[in-house]
Order: sequence, then structure tokens, then C-alpha cells
Amino acid sequence: MLEVRNVTKRFGSNIAVNDVSFSIAKGEIHGLIGPNGSGKTTLFNVVSGFYAPTAGNVTFEGRQISGLRPHRVAKAGLVRTFQLTSVFQGLSVRQSIEIALAVAHSNGLLAAHDDWLREFRTADAILDYFDLKHSADKHANVLPGGIQRTLSIATALAVRPRMLLLDEPLAGLNPSEKARIAGKIRELRDTFGVTVLLVEHDIKSVFSVCDNITVINIGKKIADGTSSEISSNDAVIRAYLGSAGAAHAQH
Ligand code: ADP
Ligand code: MG
Repeated sequence: MLEVRNVTKRFGSNIAVNDVSFSIAKGEIHGLIGPNGSGKTTLFNVVSGFYAPTAGNVTFEGRQISGLRPHRVAKAGLVRTFQLTSVFQGLSVRQSIEIALAVAHSNGLLAAHDDWLREFRTADAILDYFDLKHSADKHANVLPGGIQRTLSIATALAVRPRMLLLDEPLAGLNPSEKARIAGKIRELRDTFGVTVLLVEHDIKSVFSVCDNITVINIGKKIADGTSSEISSNDAVIRAYLGSAGAAHAQH
């Protein structure tokens, strides 16, 4: 469904992403992991259209999407989450979802024929599905972190993606919120068949949520495989223990 082919992204002389290729099948939850500064967010921004790659290309359902503007990428069916505190400042939970629905409507996405989309065309249905009814009239910026994160996923889903792009959806959450959001990501895939690209630093959660994982380090792909293959891969363990070891050595 998504093919990332030989993507390189340079910032001046700094190569943030260096000739990375991987692919994601329809209905898959695909993790992209790596130590801090390894190029995850840069690659995410290339896929979602926020950066054009310096070299290489990205195709989605056979169409080239690299080089398209972010709104064209969203219209093609790939939708990313944003941090709501910056995007929906001052809006209530219900208003945020209504805006996402209006975007879907103006893009002609509400006419999509999939069964699950038919059920999902009102703010009430979405609030219900995500257990957000009790927070509907509260402002996004006063909500606890876990609820904000749920709302950002709900608004992205309201735009009716075929592929959902999540950059560190678990960052800053406590363990029970992490488990809840991680469970919701799997449930979304199982219920709606939405394909997911998940960039996440918390490898324990990634191993439990993702079907397949691509690992990058210093901009280069170092491994690619199923969750169980990756969790027992020596190069991955070294890359992570290397950075964790360095962090521990500071203390
Ligand atoms: P990660 O998300 O894995 O922590 P990033 O993609 O944010 O990594 O960063 C990868 C590298 O690219 C880092 O060396 C970072 O400093 C650099 N980088 C990221 N964005 C920019 C930018 N807009 N301009 C210059 N350098 C950048
Ligand atoms: Mg990042």
C-alpha cells in the first residue's frame, strides 16, 4: 500500500535520512523506531508531504505522493495527527471533531462507500466510539494528556484516512494511558481496517502494537521485520542499549 523507496533527506550537509526503503501492506500496523535523532520525524514528514525528499520517492496505492503538498497527501488518504494544543487551541472537543468532519466533507471523503465510514459521519458517533462524550464541551487544552491524544486520533480518523500516520502518540503519557491508546490503535485497525504508520520511541509499546517494524539509526535503515524478529535482533538491541547506556553513564 505504501512504498518508501531510497528516500534521502538532507538539511544542508546533515543527512537526516539516508537511502531508506521499506513498504507497508494494507491493514498493517507498521512501526518506525530508532534512537533520538535517528531521522524518524524527518521520514514521517517526507511521507506526510511536509518535506519533499532530496532523493528517492514514496508511492501510496501505486501513486507517487512524494513532492505533493500535505493537503494533497491527506486527500489521497494518508492523514497524520497533530498536537491539538497547538492546532485546536480554544476549541471544544466536539468543535474539533466537527471541523475534521467538515474537512472530510469538503474533500468529498464523506461519500466514501466503505461500511465503517457510513457509521462514522456524525460528531456524536465519533465521540461515542472514542469515549469522549463526557468531555465533548471541554476545551482540548484543559484535558488530561491521554484524552488529548485520543482526541487527536479521533479527529484524524474523522477525516477518513485509509492510512493513519502517528508520530509518538504515546510520548508523555503514564503507563495506563499508554496501554489504553496502544489498545485503541489496534482496535482501530481491527474494526476499520485502517493501515497505520506508528513512529514511537517507547519500544516496549511498539513491540506489542506493531505487526512489522523498520529500525533506523543515524538516518540509515538497520533492520526490518516482524515485531518478534526485531525484538530479538542484535543490531537493534545494540543501537538501543548504546543510547540507553550513554544516558545511564551520565548519572
Ligand atoms: P528523530 O525523530 O528520530 O529524533 P529527527 O528526524 O527529528 O530524528 O532528526 C534527525 C536529524 O535531522 C537530526 O540530526 C536533526 O538535528 C536533523 N534535523 C531534523 N529536522 C531538521 C531541520 N528542519 N533542519 C535541520 N536539521 C534537522
Ligand atoms: Mg522525532
